[in-house]
Amino acid sequence: MAQGIPEDVMMNHSLVKELAEVAKDTALLHGIQMRIHETPNSSEVRNENTGIFNLNCSGNNNCIHVVFLQALAVQIHYNTLVDKISQDPDFLQEALASTIAVDDFTARLFRIHQQILKEGKSQSIVLGLNRSDYMLDQRDDGSTSLKQVEINTFAASFGGLSSRTPDVHRHILKVAGRLEDSHRILDNNPAAGLARAVAKAWELYGSERAVVMFLVEESQRNIFDQRYIENELWNRNIPTIRKRFDDVCKMGSLDQDKKLHIDGQEVAVVYFRNGYMPQNYISEQTWDARIMMERSMAVKCPDISTHLAGTKKVQQVLTRPGVLEKFFPDQSQVVEQIRATFAGLYTLDEGLEGDKTVEMGLAAPDRFVLKPQREGGGNNLYGAELFQVLQSVKGSAERMAYILMDKIQPTPVQNILLRRDAPLKISNCLSELGVFGAYVRQGKDMVMNNCVGHLLRTKSSEYEDGGVAAGVAVLDNPLLI
Ligand code: ADP
Ligand code: MG
Repeated sequence: MAQGIPEDVMMNHSLVKELAEVAKDTALLHGIQMRIHETPNSSEVRNENTGIFNLNCSGNNNCIHVVFLQALAVQIHYNTLVDKISQDPDFLQEALASTIAVDDFTARLFRIHQQILKEGKSQSIVLGLNRSDYMLDQRDDGSTSLKQVEINTFAASFGGLSSRTPDVHRHILKVAGRLEDSHRILDNNPAAGLARAVAKAWELYGSERAVVMFLVEESQRNIFDQRYIENELWNRNIPTIRKRFDDVCKMGSLDQDKKLHIDGQEVAVVYFRNGYMPQNYISEQTWDARIMMERSMAVKCPDISTHLAGTKKVQQVLTRPGVLEKFFPDQSQVVEQIRATFAGLYTLDEGLEGDKTVEMGLAAPDRFVLKPQREGGGNNLYGAELFQVLQSVKGSAERMAYILMDKIQPTPVQNILLRRDAPLKISNCLSELGVFGAYVRQGKDMVMNNCVGHLLRTKSSEYEDGGVAAGVAVLDNPLLI
């Protein structure tokens, strides 16, 4: 999304070095930090922050200002869409039928969803915190359009840290002599907006002593991102606790009213920041813990059906003709707004349509991305690898575990990425915009539905995949002109 940094700054090595030092210190001062790999569960050493910063924020032109506003504007509709999907068991069943036939993890989640439906949902309050990710598709003919990469309905991260990056980039720009540009960095506070929705769900649950439980990872490198939201809640006198699956296994229980208790405390809201990858479920007990939480009276963020609504297969099915119209009857403008952000997505189900997708992918592997039903980065396939895998699964049902997607092609922009243990050098960079959505529904009433901020991540174009946590991308800010 960037126009990059001016020639004079790029050429001035001593200025770049000085700005890098200023950037690291300012990031520390503002609490933009991540624990290091070596000690992910202790804050004794915490200098990974130096590895997650772009030295210069991404500059831009008018056209990009327009697409930025477009991404913010469509967010409440995406919130509504995800929520509607989560309430449509027939749609989920049909959309995911082929996937669950071959993908064990999705199948297992789907079985939990069915079990909960059968037993009857015990909680009518729904809390959704999601992040829709986009890239700019910039074609040779000069056209520029905003295309969605995916929507994350589970454990969407960096709402905390991105609340603090604007001040850092403003400061760096000032030190670089670009005062005017520093004023163009937008305020951004997703942490506050996400916490507002959690607080609303907690309030509606209606028990002052009950806590918000963050269900956290074994390895807690990104704890600071979560702490911002925790602290926003504590500021409202809402108690929060952090527990792992293992704690829930050992200390969790449901009482006769299906209220969830952990270690003697009643839980009003379970905010999942872990549980989206097969490897998060290390034993049958872990699955039992997930089922117990799903069954409980606690508000789940997300609940199991909203989790499924965020799968890549659902994303593909939504691009079929008539599907959006079904969710938004008589709202053609909303349909158009959402559809405008869709990249081409193609089924690999068995049958003629899937056969055509295979042919198309094999004929031009560099034009596509092959995606399994996984989250968290590093699972997608590109180029030669895409060709190889597609070739090997094309004749079997296994291919239904994947979807094929048009590769979005942003124009790279030169910039300097500041990453831990990486030299300061000019790279061709690509940016990805994330937009945070937060909503609360009680029964049929949408009590809250907001766009609560954004995230810009920038990486070198030599990487196809990989986020900030993987050490590839850095936290950035749009510089809108
Ligand atoms: P995950 O759930 O693992 O985050 P994503 O679909 O978000 O999966 O893909 C991970 C990364 O791969 C994205 O952040 C983006 O950089 C890249 N990517 C994914 N889909 C596309 C696409 N259609 N075109 C270009 N890059 C993509
Ligand atoms: Mg992603």
